[in-house]
Amino acid sequence: MRAARVPEPGADFEVVDVETPEPAAGEVRVAVDACGICHSDAFVKEGAYPGIDYPRVPGHEVAGRVDAVGDDVTAWSEGDRVGVGWHGGHCFECDACRRGDFQQCEDAQITGIAYDGGYAEYMTAPAEALAAVPADLDAVDAAPLLCAGVTTFNALRNTDARPGDLVAVQGVGGLGHLGIQYARAAGFETVALSRSPDKEELAYELGADHFVNAAEADAAEALRELGGADVVLATAPSAPAIESVVDGLGTDGRVVVVGVPGEEVSVNAQSLVGVRGGVDGWASGNARDSQDTLEFSDLREITPEVETFALDEVHAAYDRMIENEARFRVVLEP
Ligand SMILES: [Zn+2]
Ligand SMILES: [Zn+2]
Repeated sequence: MRAARVPEPGADFEVVDVETPEPAAGEVRVAVDACGICHSDAFVKEGAYPGIDYPRVPGHEVAGRVDAVGDDVTAWSEGDRVGVGWHGGHCFECDACRRGDFQQCEDAQITGIAYDGGYAEYMTAPAEALAAVPADLDAVDAAPLLCAGVTTFNALRNTDARPGDLVAVQGVGGLGHLGIQYARAAGFETVALSRSPDKEELAYELGADHFVNAAEADAAEALRELGGADVVLATAPSAPAIESVVDGLGTDGRVVVVGVPGEEVSVNAQSLVGVRGGVDGWASGNARDSQDTLEFSDLREITPEVETFALDEVHAAYDRMIENEARFRVVLEP
């Protein structure tokens, strides 16, 4: 099979012919129809994540079909349409797993990091890492929903926000353009915050009720004028951007960080104490959360904006993503 892999940390991708993997017991083989390129794939490309064995095939936004089933797999059959996201499997035995909190498994595997991911024609994955893809949902649309989608959908639905509450989505990019659609569909009064005024029209098209140009207006003040945010979903990986909205929280408001900045975020504790607020973090979800995301996206016709590339074009595709030029998610079609 063809695979695009990183030979060693910091090296360029190489597109090579390798053995098609066989599924071990408890695993399935997935024929990959589409795989999104996520900013977190830079961990593999640059060697920034501990314990990666090289060469490694990245890719944790995988949509495809079950192609072969290993021993002891009863939940999936050949031909099933499936997706694999960041959460690539769990141990079933640690304390978190015993409590059913698979996302927090102490031994959790990350797709494309612990084992080869979806920048290839085929990959294998543990059966518990699979999400069913709805029949009507195109693989190219499904792929980014398995990381960018589940991260924003799951973060929002795990807040205390209720219909009518003021929910701001900071950043109108890969995550944010999905977050706005989910916030709207969930019944929130939805605010899009962006430093790019050219995103205003799109933000309204995606369902935002308000747009704040954070390059000119004070984002916190704008949120306070709207009554104070119950939730700010921070998708832009920028510490100053996150810091700029904390004073815009209403009572019990939360900034939920899903886009992780490279630098530390500094917060004035008095701002939080005054509104009983907080700055929280959230990471993706388990396979069932991914499936919920796919099903809800299908139900409400929420799709990502994508640019597609063939596997051989992986260099150009990755550059589009890493240089932040893509509108908005880059998807490989192996
Ligand atoms: Zn990702
Ligand atoms: Zn576990």
